[in-house]
Parts: sequence; C-alpha cells; structure tokens
Amino acid sequence: MSNTPITETVDAVVIGAGFSGLAMNRRLRDDMGMSVRVFEAGHDVGGTWYWNRYPGARCDSESFLYCLTFDKQLMQDWEWSGKYPEQPEILRYLTHVADRFDLRSNMTFNTRVTSAHFDESTNRWLVGTDAGDSVSAKYLITGVGCLSSTQKPNIKGRDSFAGPSYHTGEWPHEGVDLTGKRVGVIGTGSSGVQSIPVMAKQAEHLYVFQRTPNYTVPARHGTVTKASLDEVKKNYDAIMEKSRWSTGGSHYDMSEISAMSVSDEEREAIYERAWAEGGFKFLQDTFNDIAVNLDANATASEFIRKKIREIVKNPAVADKLAPVDHPFASKRPLIDTDYFDTYNRDNVTLVDIHAAPIEEITPTGIRTQDGTYDLDIIVFATGFDAMTGTYNKMDIRGRNGLALKDVWAAGPLTYLGVTSAGFPNLFMITGPGSPSVLSNMPVSIEQHVGWISGVIEHMRSAGISTFEAQEQAQTDWVAHVNDLASQTLFMQANSWYLGANVPGKPRVFMPYVGGVGTYRQKCDEVAAAGYEGFTLGKESVSA
Ligand code: NAP
Repeated sequence: MSNTPITETVDAVVIGAGFSGLAMNRRLRDDMGMSVRVFEAGHDVGGTWYWNRYPGARCDSESFLYCLTFDKQLMQDWEWSGKYPEQPEILRYLTHVADRFDLRSNMTFNTRVTSAHFDESTNRWLVGTDAGDSVSAKYLITGVGCLSSTQKPNIKGRDSFAGPSYHTGEWPHEGVDLTGKRVGVIGTGSSGVQSIPVMAKQAEHLYVFQRTPNYTVPARHGTVTKASLDEVKKNYDAIMEKSRWSTGGSHYDMSEISAMSVSDEEREAIYERAWAEGGFKFLQDTFNDIAVNLDANATASEFIRKKIREIVKNPAVADKLAPVDHPFASKRPLIDTDYFDTYNRDNVTLVDIHAAPIEEITPTGIRTQDGTYDLDIIVFATGFDAMTGTYNKMDIRGRNGLALKDVWAAGPLTYLGVTSAGFPNLFMITGPGSPSVLSNMPVSIEQHVGWISGVIEHMRSAGISTFEAQEQAQTDWVAHVNDLASQTLFMQANSWYLGANVPGKPRVFMPYVGGVGTYRQKCDEVAAAGYEGFTLGKESVSA
C-alpha cells in the first residue's frame, strides 16, 4: 500500500454517507473550509436507510426527533408524514439534505474503503479503496454506522437453497414480490418484528422460525397532523436541546417513580396507559427502575406476557411467543404494529427452533429437528455484527503498523467511544464506548460531529499534528463503560450489544449506558480541560 501512488490529497477522508457522513462532510467542508473526500459503498447517500429496505422498515424514534439540526430552515421546511419515519421517507429526507447542501460533489459512491494506514513519517492516513483509490488525509473519520455488517448464520446447507434468499439489511432496491409465495423468515428481533406483519399480508404462507421470543410493545404508528408538527416547529430548538441532555436522545420526561412504590392496581393502570400510548414511553414513562431492578422489571415483563396471551388466540402459540429467558429491555426494546396479532392469521405458522433447532437448509426449504418446511423464499432477519464488524473488515493500521482488529481482539478499546489509542487522528462517529445505539442516533451523531470538529479546529489553530488517546485514559474509560453496564439488566441477555449473536465474538458490552447528556458533559469537560487524556503532538512535519 505504501508504494501505491497517491491519487488524491485531502484534509479529511470521511467513510460513509449516512446521517454521520452527511453531517461531518458539511461541517468540515462548508463551515471549516477543509478539503474532504467521502467514500460510500452504496450508489447514493442514506447509510442504514439505503440498505434496510425490507417490508415495514422504519425508525423507532419519532419523526421530528430523527433529524439533523445544523440548519434551522431545513428543520422548518421538512414535513414528516408519519409518527415514526418510514424507510422511504428517511431516504427521501437524506437525499434532500444531500441535494440541498450539495453534499454529493465530493463523495465517491460504489466504493468501499478497504484499508487505512497511518504513516508515522508524515502523520497522515493513506486510505485505500476497492476501486483503487489511494488518498492521503490528515484526518480519518468513520461514519460507518453501528449496524452495517450483516450477519447470516452459518447454518448447514445455507447456500444450497434453490430459491432466492435475502437478508433484511441488504434488501433488493426493486422490492420483492411475496405474492403467492411460501416464505420462511429466520429471526424475531427489530427487523423480524417489523417485517413479519407486512410479509404475512403478502405471502401465501409465512413460516416464522423463532429461536428466542422477544418483548415488544405497540408502536401506535399513524400519521401526524400539520398542526402537531407546527407546534413542534415553534419549539424545535428547546425540544432538541432537551434531547441533547437527556438519557436517550429524546425530549420525553423519564419517570421518577419506582415500580415497587405503587400498589398493584396503580402499577397496572400506568402500564395500561403506556401500552395504549405506545412506543418507548412504555420503558421511559412508566417507572424508573425497570432497567435496573429485577423485581421492578418482572412486573413489566409479566404485563407484556399477559398482553401476548390476550392477543394471541391459540394458547400454545401464545406460550411460545412469551419471553421467559431474559428480562424486558435487557435486549434492544422493540415496538411493533400488529406483531402478536399476526399469529392469529391462518397463513402464519410459528416454528419454535429453540425446542427443535434448524438442522439444515436444503434446496427446497428448511428442515428442523421435528419437521420439514417447503419454501419459495428465505428471509434472514438475523441481525448484524454490530459496532465492530465493519471496523474489523477494513485493514486499519495505526502506529507501528498495529491493526485495529488485533488491538480490539478481546473487545473494542476506545477512549470516549470516539478514538482508540495508537490510532492518531482517527475519529469514530458513534463508535463503541459511546451512547450510540442506546440513543436516538442523529442526536448522538451530531454530538460527535460537533466534538470532532472542535478537536480539529483546535488542532488547526494550535499547530497540532497528532491527536491521540492515552492508554490509561482509554483503560479507565473502558472500565467505566463496563462498570455502568454491569449495574443494569443488559448483562442478563444474550444480545448483540454484548456481541452474543456472532460466534466467537468477545462478550463485552459495547455501548455506553450512562446517557447522552452525561456523556456530552464528559466530552465537554475533557475538551475544556485541554483534551485531558489525549496526547497532542506539535507539528514537526508539514501536513
Ligand atoms: P437482531 O436484533 O440481532 O435479531 C436477530 C434475530 O435473528 C434474533 O431473533 C435471533 O435469535 C435470530 N437469529 C440469529 N442467528 C440465528 C440463528 N443462527 N438461528 C436462528 N435464529 C437466529 O437483529 P435485527 O432484528 O436486524 O435488529 C438489529 C438492531 O438493528 C436492532 O436491535 C436495532 O437496534 C436496529 N434496528 C432498528 C430498527 C428500528 O429502529 N425500528 C429496525 C431494525 C433494526 P436469538 O435472539 O435467539 O439470537
């Protein structure tokens, strides 16, 4: 790589053209006057929302909160149509942002970054792509998303299936017509829970292969009125500022009462109200100890199981759908539209692959320990190699040629979830060790974009050539991230937060659970203290 001729020299390379890449590009290029090259594997902008086009795909954050806030007029102009933004609408929004701010002109599409090597003699990154680019940049910023490496289980015979198979995270852009088809879907996480009710309406028959049942709460999706959006727009600055200092990146108040402090009747009434309102309020706006106290949690878990038994008419199916192996919200909480009711349809069969695991995928379908299912289409709603998968696929090398994937072999090591010791001038937007996936993503993304650009401004004005996390600060941060997680119920489930869905992946809790407001304050304090915990190298070579 070092002998490859340099094809372009820029101030910064940004990887990815989703929310992160768009916001970072605009900030560095337009506000700070830097030269920037953005590489994107897709043929257009959108990131997560470019790839995840499966039926029913939408975001679980309310529309008006799921936005970029760098331009007030953009916030006033954009009209969301639904309570939750659906994938096509989010993609339209991001396309509009790219058009409106001319963000494509320095983006290279259909191009995947394959390597990034730090050259200690020049203090620059040399970034290689699958299209043969070799770009020299002082700063390397990853906006690669947390859930961008799809994970297909290595089931025996997987590739022998004669019909088409799709992963929800790589759904064909032209859509898939399920009419008259026998469809098998493996997986009942967010993607499964969103797509199963929609696919059931189209397919001749839908077989749901469920290994672990999940708790899910009605989203109560619907349209939004112009009047309610206008009201939001009048108060947009205050709403977003409150979100920035909140726990999860939204402006909703969190409950301040314990589930154990009220009578059974009061508790039931609070859960009923939250169930009727729908969405994440069931977690945020009911009781403050559901995520940390097993007894409190048991009341919420049991309430949802009761609802499942009420909705699903066949008691044996309801039993299989009712989760008992992990507490509610110890995995990513889910919200749905008609998920449990879908199992009342005649054309839907729940296949319990916990009781009778899949033995083989055959040319004609799926064979489990106790049955054979003939299928025309298989859908893998089996998730992602989250948070680190995409990093590990790139050959990122820092000082002394050290590979990031080797440094992270026992779990990701970061300071503040945005830098890693030994990798100067590499900044990871919503990297492991930051709130990221535990928050409304655009709020966390913009916080990182702001903080990273603050660092770069400082470096430019003070003649700093390298900005690098110190080992001790990183060790302390990783310990802090783990310590906080250990006080929650997150450690009681086999979730992708812990890497449990990828065979051989180290079991380490990856996101920061302390909340976006606390985290923001910590990042601000570190900056105010002259970037405490970082080593700032003075210019010794021309950059
Ligand atoms: P996921 O939550 O990891 O769920 C994967 C599903 O596949 C699980 O039910 C899992 O079962 C099953 N599975 C995996 N390997 C299997 C195997 N070998 N055999 C049988 N079943 C297997 O993945 P996801 O649903 O794509 O969601 C990932 C994350 O993306 C979400 O948690 C969320 O953060 C994000 N997302 C968000 C939205 C949204 O905003 N609405 C929508 C989609 C995704 P086990 O539980 O037994 O492992």
